[in-house]
Order: sequence, then structure tokens, then C-alpha cells
Amino acid sequence: METFDYVIVGAGSAGSVLTNRLSEDAGTSICVLEAGPRDWHPYIHLPAGFIKTFHMKSVNWAYQQEPGPWTGGRSIYAPRGKTLGGSSSINGHIYNRGQRQDFDTWAQLGNRGWSYSDVLPYFKRMERRVGEGDDAYRGRDGSLTVTTMEWKDRLCEAFMEGAMSLGIPRNHDYNGAIQEGVSYAQRTIKNGLRVSAATAFLHPARKRPNVHVRTHAHATNIIFEGKRAVGVRYMKGGRGGTPVEVRANKEVILAGGTYNSPQLLQLSGVGSPELLQSLGIDVRHALPGVGEGLQDHYAPRTVARVKNIMTINELRQGWHLWVEALKWATTRRGLLSLSPTMVYCFWHSGETTESSDLQLTFTPASYKEGAQGQLEDEPGMTVASWQQRPESRGYVHARSADPFEAPIIQTNYLVAELDRRVVVAGMKLARRLLKSSPLAPYYAYEDFPGPGVETDDEFLAAATQRGTTTFHPGCTCRMGPADSTWAVVDDQLRVHGLQGLRVIDASVMPRMISANLNASTMMIADKASDLIRGKSVPAE
Ligand SMILES: Cc1cc2nc3c(=O)[nH]c(=O)nc-3n(C[C@H](O)[C@H](O)[C@H](O)COP(=O)(O)OP(=O)(O)OC[C@H]3O[C@@H](n4cnc5c(N)ncnc54)[C@H](O)[C@@H]3O)c2cc1C
Repeated sequence: METFDYVIVGAGSAGSVLTNRLSEDAGTSICVLEAGPRDWHPYIHLPAGFIKTFHMKSVNWAYQQEPGPWTGGRSIYAPRGKTLGGSSSINGHIYNRGQRQDFDTWAQLGNRGWSYSDVLPYFKRMERRVGEGDDAYRGRDGSLTVTTMEWKDRLCEAFMEGAMSLGIPRNHDYNGAIQEGVSYAQRTIKNGLRVSAATAFLHPARKRPNVHVRTHAHATNIIFEGKRAVGVRYMKGGRGGTPVEVRANKEVILAGGTYNSPQLLQLSGVGSPELLQSLGIDVRHALPGVGEGLQDHYAPRTVARVKNIMTINELRQGWHLWVEALKWATTRRGLLSLSPTMVYCFWHSGETTESSDLQLTFTPASYKEGAQGQLEDEPGMTVASWQQRPESRGYVHARSADPFEAPIIQTNYLVAELDRRVVVAGMKLARRLLKSSPLAPYYAYEDFPGPGVETDDEFLAAATQRGTTTFHPGCTCRMGPADSTWAVVDDQLRVHGLQGLRVIDASVMPRMISANLNASTMMIADKASDLIRGKSVPAE
């Protein structure tokens, strides 16, 4: 059996950063197992290609969630990257760290070393910010390029003026001192191409002789000796492939993401004894928190029809698209360099709310109902709005002992009363923004939820009918003290009660943050690499 110092399961956002940092020590050998293929497909790298990879099963786990009590009987689609770079290879490229308060809450829950001031040096170390920002908060010489949306659009400008007319200030850096305000989105895009975690961290590391990346390697079990993880069993070539085992001298690290890391623990006998026994899996280690606590952002999208101006809906049709393709080929700009959302707005749902609990995004485009990612033919504009710090929690459970069967994903969106209240407030704000006077020359009428919707109950019914995920699942292997019933890992990200095993990905977040999750997931991995290597916090 081949032996390495570290075996990392998953070459996604976290796995890529970890591989890079751990392999800086030339004497340390690392094996990375990735279930998906190499990230060669051009749609991964072309920013607008996200519309294609969104459903492309060759690079996407393409999960379906269970219908929830507040999703109107709908099963909501849950894409996840399955290639080098993981979800950072198919995501919407937005770079958003979250607020000071998010990380201070993690520390408040008993996690030493995870307050905002503790994690800020890692956000800075990874980043090469191009553009505005105070260097007290922003990094300038890391590997991850962060630029600001270059597309200047009259509708986007009018939307921002509309926000300002409602008292929401223009904020040129929502990743700086204060998140609240409205601005163009910051993105992990460099020269018109996606900067995934693989581009920034994994590919440079692969040039080192101590890094061994195996694609089409689907991990099926953690191998234990007693309570110590000593290796990983995987299926080369996926279902029906060849079984292979690799051994870890030092540690096995799970970086399979929020849905897959708890599933792999459960398949390996680590989890709630009741669940494991119901699936016929022998209990290796009882840890009831595994898979529990799933959180995500739930966003209804308010859509208005547009007049007197062209939107992206028409630009991607007929000869316009050829012009845009030529523009991208020659300048790396234009429609094909865009992200799904262009403007970000952070605001509070009530006058007395201490910090922004609402995130709203604006796109001068609209999408077909029930066909996420597919643009409509008529001109439209969309505001998605969601509660940043939801209280509802769900779970991820292995569906069976078969590692190739998709897990049961129940997010329980809107189950908490507070979540329903804030989501309704977000929809009302979205309507006010779209009806603001700077947008009036272009605003035809509200298509969804529609002018007939006026009361809170009607807004909530509309949210239930059409809301979707914003693709930010987290919190299924939560970090917390050993004496808490829900914690799976400690503040060094070691699995409680076991040796030689860590989980390092978005699943360890103890509570949802006020942000899209890619930046903070990479931060977690960067910090974890220092914890593993016994290094101190980088100097600012
Ligand atoms: C469509 C979409 C849009 C998004 N948009 C944004 C955005 O604009 N901005 C933002 O900040 N965030 C966004 N996100 C979220 C963000 O990308 C993720 O939160 C983040 O990438 C999660 O990182 P991770 O390391 O936890 O998991 P991932 O990056 O998903 O990595 C997990 C890796 O492990 C592999 N793996 C899983 N199980 C196994 C196994 N058993 N064996 C071997 N390999 C395995 C997977 O194939 C994958 O490569 C988006 C996500 C999606 C899906």
C-alpha cells in the first residue's frame, strides 16, 4: 500500500489551499484524492461558462435536496463542483468575506483563534487585491487575484443610485471595515478568466515532487486502526472501478465539502449510532453532530420587466452574442467575462438591527422560472435577496451504505420564524429598490412576485413558491468544544474522540456567515495549514 504523510480527500476550495501550504515543506508527501476529473473544460475558465457548468454532470455532483416544509413541495437543486478546484471551479466568482461579527461569534461559541482579528491575517495572506481597499484589511501579494466588476452598465448605475436614494450608502469595499452599502461586486477573476482555488493554489503546488493528485478517485471509506485514522480507501474510476488503499503516516484530512464530508464520516462508521444502525453500518465512533446543523442562504428573486434599454437577455441572442464572443477573444471583456450578479447591496431588515442582515444582488437580466441559470428572451432585471445569518438548520444523512448514492439533504429553509420575517423584509426592500426613481425610465412592471402581492403573508407565500439556494451550504461538521452535543471537530479541526483525522472545509463553520462561502472556506484551510504545521499567525 502506498504511504504518504497526508491524504486529503477533495481538491476543492479547501483541499487546494491545504495542498499548497502543506507541500511547502519539501520533506512532506501529500496525496490528494479527487472524485472528479481535471479542470480542463473551457467552460470552467470562461466566466460566463458558469451557466453551462451549472448542470454539467461531468464536473458537478448535481444533487437534489429533499422538499422542505417551506419550499412549497419543491426539491431544490444543489450543484457542487466535482473537479479540481471543486465548487470554486463552477461558482459565481464572487469574493465576499463576511463581517467581523460572524467570526467573533465563532469564537464566542468556544473556538479559540477564530475571532475576526485572528482570521483577518489569513484573508490578507491569500489575496492579491487589485483595486480599491484599505491595506489594513486587504492583501496585495497573495495568489488569489480579486478584482472589481469592470462591466459598467446604465441599469447597474441606476440601481445603485436608487439604493442611495433610499439611504443606502455607496461602499467601495464591502470586504473592508464595514460591509453595509451598495457597490459593484468583487470577483476572483484575472484577465477575463476564472481564478479558482485550483488555479491559484493547487496547480502551482502540483509542480512540486511531493504532491500527488489523483483524479477520478472517489473515496469510499476512512481506514481506521482502533480510534486512529490511518488511510483512505477509494475507487479508481468511480463506481465499478478498481478499489485502492492509500495510507497516511500523519493525518487523513477530509475536504469533501458540506455534503460529502459528513457522508464519508457516516459511511466510515462515525456519526449518530441510530442513523448508522438504520443503514446497517457498524458504529466505529459515536458522534451525534455529524451531518447535523446544515445551514444555507435562501433567496427569492424579485423580477421586473425592463423597457428603453437592452439587458443581458437580448445580448446573449443572435449576432449580439457573436460580437460579445469576439470582444472576449480580443479584450477578455464583455458579456462572456461576467458573473451571475453584478451589484452587491448589504442592508438591515429593521431600524434596530445592529449590522446588515440582508444581502441583495442586482443583475440586469432575468431567468426562466424553474430553469435556474437559463436566461429569458424578454428584457428583465432581477434582485435576489436573502437573510445573511439564518437560524434554520437541517441535516445531511447518508441515504444508504453505498458510497455512490447521493446523500439525503434537508436544509429546512425558513423553518425558523426569524428567517421568514427577514426574507419577507428582503423582498419588500427589493421591490422598493426596483421602483426607485433612478430606475423609473427602465422599469416596466413587476413580474414576480407581482403587484397583487402586498401583505407579509403574500410575500412569504411567494418566497415559498420560488425561492432557491444561493449555493452556500455549511455547518454539517461544526467546530466547537468537546462538551457540546453538536460539535464534530475542535478548534484545531481535529475530529473529537479520534486521532489522525481532521475535517477542513465549509462544513466546519459553526454558524452561517454574512457572505458567500468561498473566501472564508479558503481562509479556514489556510489557517488550518498553520495549525497542522505548528506555525504562528502571519505578521500583518
Ligand atoms: C453554483 C455555485 C455558485 C457559487 N457561487 C459562489 C460565489 O460566487 N462566491 C462564493 O464565495 N461562493 C460561491 N459558492 C460557494 C463556494 O464555491 C463553496 O462554498 C466552496 O467552494 C466550498 O468549498 P469546499 O472546499 O468546502 O468544497 P468544494 O469546493 O465543493 O470541494 C469539495 C471537493 O471534494 C471532492 N469530493 C467530495 N467527495 C469526495 C470523495 N468521496 N472522494 C473524492 N473527492 C471528493 C469534490 O468533488 C470537490 O472537488 C458557489 C457554489 C456553487 C456550487
